[in-house]
Amino acid sequence: MDSKSITVHNGSEIYNNNSLNKTEQIEVEPSKSKPKKVWTIEDSEKLYRIQGWGNPYFSINSAGHVTVSPKGDLGGSIDLHELVESIKQRNIGLPLIIRFSDILEDRIERLNACFSKAIARYKYKNSYRGVFPVKCNQHRQLVEEVVKFGKPNKFGLEAGSKPELLIAIATLNTPGALIICNGYKDREYIETAMLAQRLGKTPIIVIEQVEEVQLVIEASRKLNIKPVVGVRVKLSTKGIGRWAGTTGDRAKFGLNIPEIIQVVNQLKSAGILDSLQLLHFHVGSQISSISVIKDAIREASQIYVELAQLGANMKYLDVGGGLAVDYDGSKTNFYASKNYDMQNYANDIVAEVKEACEEKNILPPILVSESGRAVASHQSVLVFDVLGVSQVPNQEAEIITKDEHLILQNLYETYQSINPKNYQEAYHDAIQFKEESISLFNFGYLSITERAKVEKLYWGCFRKIQEILKSSEYIPDDLEDLEKIMASIYYINLSVFQSAPDSWAINQLFPIMPIHRLDEEPTEKAILADLTCDSDGKIDQFIDLRDVKLLLELHPLKLTYKYFQSTASDTVENSALPIASISEPYYLALFLGGAYQEIMGNLHNLFGDVNVVHIKLTPSGYKIEHVVKGDTMTEVLSYVQYNSDGLVESIRRQTEQALQEEKITIKESRMLLQNYERSLSSYTYLSD
Ligand SMILES: *Cc1c(COP(=O)(O)O)cnc(C)c1O
Repeated sequence: MDSKSITVHNGSEIYNNNSLNKTEQIEVEPSKSKPKKVWTIEDSEKLYRIQGWGNPYFSINSAGHVTVSPKGDLGGSIDLHELVESIKQRNIGLPLIIRFSDILEDRIERLNACFSKAIARYKYKNSYRGVFPVKCNQHRQLVEEVVKFGKPNKFGLEAGSKPELLIAIATLNTPGALIICNGYKDREYIETAMLAQRLGKTPIIVIEQVEEVQLVIEASRKLNIKPVVGVRVKLSTKGIGRWAGTTGDRAKFGLNIPEIIQVVNQLKSAGILDSLQLLHFHVGSQISSISVIKDAIREASQIYVELAQLGANMKYLDVGGGLAVDYDGSKTNFYASKNYDMQNYANDIVAEVKEACEEKNILPPILVSESGRAVASHQSVLVFDVLGVSQVPNQEAEIITKDEHLILQNLYETYQSINPKNYQEAYHDAIQFKEESISLFNFGYLSITERAKVEKLYWGCFRKIQEILKSSEYIPDDLEDLEKIMASIYYINLSVFQSAPDSWAINQLFPIMPIHRLDEEPTEKAILADLTCDSDGKIDQFIDLRDVKLLLELHPLKLTYKYFQSTASDTVENSALPIASISEPYYLALFLGGAYQEIMGNLHNLFGDVNVVHIKLTPSGYKIEHVVKGDTMTEVLSYVQYNSDGLVESIRRQTEQALQEEKITIKESRMLLQNYERSLSSYTYLSD
C-alpha cells in the first residue's frame, strides 16, 4: 500500500492525507480485543526521555522512583523519593532545591578530562585551564565547591561584575588558577584585580571597552604592577539560538578588529604590550550546533596568531562559554539540545587551535573555557508538590427528548452517534452546535437550564472523542486542540518567576517529571499552573523528541473524601459536604536547572527563595552537608521595606480597636495575632 493512510480500530480507513509526516502505514489494533498492556518503568523512561537528558545521573528504579547517581557511572545511588521524604521529616518543606555535590564534582572532572584527552590525542603542546563563570550560580557553597573540586586541575573563576570579582578574589585560593575579569570595569575594579596579584592570584583583566585600556595603563603605573591583560573580540561568526546576538558587528560586548589594533598600539606606546596575553571571545550561551563553535574557534585562532605576530606576548586563548546542555535529550541542534558532546567540543577546539598555530609557527596557547551551564546545570534538582488539579466539567450528559429545542436534539444526536469512523466530523459538529446555542441563549431563545444541557453534551462529545483518540496512534491536525481543551491543570507549589524564570521569560525547556509512581501509567495530560496570581505563571511547554509538547503526562492525584466537621455548635446538618483532599503527596521535579535560574528568579507575589539542601554520597548512603533555609515572609517583606515588628504592631493596634468596638472576640483577636506572627517567620510557600 503506497498511500499514507491511517487505519483505526475496526479496520476502516478514515484518514488519507498525503501531507502526513509518516512514511509507513500505521495499523492500530482494535483496543478492545487486546488486554491492556501493563505499564512498566521502561514506558516511563521512554515517555519522560530520562535516558536522553539524565544520563548518567538520573534514572528510574524498580520501585518506580527516580534515582540519582551523583557520581555517574562510578556507583552509588540515592532514591530521590525517599530522599525527599526524609528531608521533609527534618522539617524542611517543599519546594526544595537539592544540590548533589558529587554531580558538580563529576561535571568539573569530566570537562577537564575531555580536554586532557583531546590534548593527548592531538599531541597539543600546551594545557587547558578552565574557569567557572560565577554568574551562572553565585551561591557561596556552590562556588566554594567549584574551587575545591577544581583544585587538581587548577580550575579558576570568571567574574562578570564587581561583586563577582569580590567573590572570586576571596574564594579562589588555588595556585595558578585563573581569575578572568570580564564585564564593565571602573578604576576600582581594575585596581582591585591588579592588587590581587600581590596575594599570589592570577587575575587577567579582559578589555571589553576601549576606554578600559587607559584605566589599566594608569593603574599599572600608579600601583607599579604589571597586569596580565586580555582583549575580548567581537567575532563575525554568527551565534545560534537565543543568544545569537552575543556576537557579530553590533554585539553589546567586545572590541572589533580596528579597536583591538588600537588597544595594541596604546599598550605598546605605554611600554606594556607584553602584558597583552589573552584573547577572549564568547559566542553566546547554549550553542546547540557544533559548526558554530568550529567557525568561532577558527576565526579566533587566526586573530590569536595575528596578535602574537604583532608582538603581543600571547599565552592564553579563552573560548568563553556556550558549551550546551541537552535539555530534551534529542541530541539535535534544536535550541533545547545540542548536536555534539563534551568530547567533540574539546576535540574541535584543540584541533583547530593547533592547526592555526602550527601553520604560523606560533606556540599554542593555554586553552581556557568559561563553561557555566555545562558545569552547573545538572547538580541541582528542584522538587515541588502538586496542590490540586482542575479538570474539564465531567457531569453526565442528559437524555434529550423529541419535544426539546432542535439545537439540543442535534447536539444529542451528534453525541450519541460518535464512533471511530465519524469522530472527526462529530468534533466539528459539536463545536458548531455549541456556538449556535450560545447565540440562541444570548438572544433569549434558550434558557439557562437548556444551556446547561448543551454544555454537558458538548463536554460529553469531547470526552467520547478523546477516548477514541486514546487508542489511536495518530491524532489528525484539526483535533490537536482537543487535547489542549481537555487538559487538566495541575496546581504546583512553586513560583515559576522565582524558580524557573527562563521558562517564563524565554520559553526555555527543562525536563520535568514525577519522581515516583513511574511504574504506573500517567493517564492525565496537563499543564502546570504556579502559585502566583499571574496568568503567565505556568508551564505549558515540555520536552519532546521532536520539537516540544504542550501537555505533560501525569498521574491522577490520590484523593480521600472527608466530611467537613465544624466545631461551631450551631452547624446545621446539611453543611456536611464531602471535601477532597490529597491523601498521598504527588511530587514533581524540574531537572537541569542549576544554571542561571536561582539568581534570575524574582519575588513576584513575594514568593521568596526556596529551601536548599546539599547532599553528598557517603560509603553508607548520603549525608546532608548544608541546609540553606529559604526566605521567610519577614525576609521577603523586608526587601520591599516592611518591618515585621511594625506590621505586627499595626495589626495589634487595629485588633485592640476592634475589641473596644466589640467587633472581635478576645479569642479571635488572639488567633489572628498568633497566625500573623507565625506566618511572618515561616516559609512563603504552602505547607501541608
Ligand atoms: C554567560 C557567560 C559565560 C557562561 O556561558 P555558558 O553558556 O553558561 O557556559 C561565559 N563567558 C561569558 C563572557 C559570559 O557572559
